[in-house]
Amino acid sequence: MAPVAVDGSGRLLNGFNGHKVDTMNPHDLVQFDKSLTPKKYEIKGTSPDSKILFTDVNIIDSTGSDPFQGDVYIEGERVKFVGSVPNKDSLIKNSNVRKVEGRGRTLMSGLGDAHVHFSWNEGDLGKLGGLGVEEHTLLTARSAQTYLDSGYTMCFGAASAKERLDCVVRDAINAGHLPGPRYLANGKEIAVPDGDLVAGITAFASGPLEMREVIRHHVKLGVDQIKLSMSGEQITETRDAQDCYFTDEETAACVDEGHRHGRRLCAHARARDSVKQCVKHGVDIIYHASWIDDEGMDMLEKNKTKHMVAPGLNWLIATIYESGAFGYSFEKAEQVGYKKELDVAIKGLKEMHRRGITVLPGGDYGFAWTPHGTYARDLEHFVKLLDFTPMESIVAATAGVAKLFMREEELGKIKPGYYADCILVDGDPLKDITVLQDHDKLNVIMINGRIHKASYKEFLRTETPQATIEPQAVPLTNYVAYSLDDGTKRTRIGHLDTKAGTIIPLSFASGTPLENLYQTIEIGRDQIIPGGEAFALTER
Ligand SMILES: [Zn+2]
Repeated sequence: MAPVAVDGSGRLLNGFNGHKVDTMNPHDLVQFDKSLTPKKYEIKGTSPDSKILFTDVNIIDSTGSDPFQGDVYIEGERVKFVGSVPNKDSLIKNSNVRKVEGRGRTLMSGLGDAHVHFSWNEGDLGKLGGLGVEEHTLLTARSAQTYLDSGYTMCFGAASAKERLDCVVRDAINAGHLPGPRYLANGKEIAVPDGDLVAGITAFASGPLEMREVIRHHVKLGVDQIKLSMSGEQITETRDAQDCYFTDEETAACVDEGHRHGRRLCAHARARDSVKQCVKHGVDIIYHASWIDDEGMDMLEKNKTKHMVAPGLNWLIATIYESGAFGYSFEKAEQVGYKKELDVAIKGLKEMHRRGITVLPGGDYGFAWTPHGTYARDLEHFVKLLDFTPMESIVAATAGVAKLFMREEELGKIKPGYYADCILVDGDPLKDITVLQDHDKLNVIMINGRIHKASYKEFLRTETPQATIEPQAVPLTNYVAYSLDDGTKRTRIGHLDTKAGTIIPLSFASGTPLENLYQTIEIGRDQIIPGGEAFALTER
């Protein structure tokens, strides 16, 4: 353990430099190398003329400051004003501005998840490998939409079950073809031979050279980050979570190759040694980290500006307590060691939080008993199990994940100039963090300045309804024949409006143009309708 001190007001002091630990915004200290910045993807399809005004909302801006009442004005893709909106009165009167009455509801940033598997099928993962590409693509796209439907606007891919699923769905979201969150895509998880955790979804490599080759292959596919599967997992019953299957040489080679191509690495690292290797060699994002020991904790603390941890806690909790209905009993989970792992993981993660190491929500959703759509449970776990305040939990899931995206200057906060990725929540998540799990309470979901979800009842109408004027029926019987000037010399029949000096083309009720006067006599005036735009006499 690093020496931990407490100041006069009981706040924890950082063990190694004496500064106060910032448990609200620890991610502010994280500095990934600039060369590792992912591509700044933009989502197409938002009109630059779009104007949306939220009035009377309780604003959680994700800086960690207390919430405040006010208005928020969005123009095009971005937030323009927060708190007080100049020219609010004229905006309210402007019929081109969509107005949402907040009535005190909470407006906050869309949520973020640091460990996402769009391509997991929330069923028998053993079947993932055999699923057809077409079916699997649809399933992946559906999960992407489920994230957005659940108020998530930032998702960090933690492995794709087929190598291009993540990439193609990311690209389709950005092209505006599919609804979904902002996404950083991953490829298949890389493991040593026999080190796979789920059959059929792993890229195998043995030794530094093969691993470099697999990483280069993934880079060519267009992934944004690389996933290493370094340790075991109890549910396999053959590959222990406390065992690390990568050698130092392999991990070092992977980091070198990934970083050389501007890609960060994330790792399934439950085992003590896998966490240490991540810190020693620079694996940027450490998943799970359950069995971290004192030495690993100190190493991580000293390097906390280079790493983020995402525990994926919900997997452990649900596997122990909620998988009975799926045939995986509590006794079984306890027997293979999940209960023990959860207990040590909670202890370690609390300690990380105390030491100002960045820990992000991200829950490994998409298994049978961790279904898609339940993602916000992670924020509750952080509050109930890891000693995060609700505000700390929200800031981690918004500004913290924005930092993981390396776009903290434009994502994850409700501030002028930031992308308008936000949710209007019917409730106060600072009083009850579980409200974020209730889809019915996510009244408005916006991404990129575009409304993804909102009832029509949300919009305040300020236009005065116009009295409906019945169109004056004018008989179209002042027939004239004219010929087309398209070189065919075909004739047409129209109605000459002598007052306006225009001719209205006439047609049968089917839409077929009338070509001669006999037709008007044959079918009778009641069957004749206007067949196109009126044109001036001089035009033809
Ligand atoms: Zn995972």
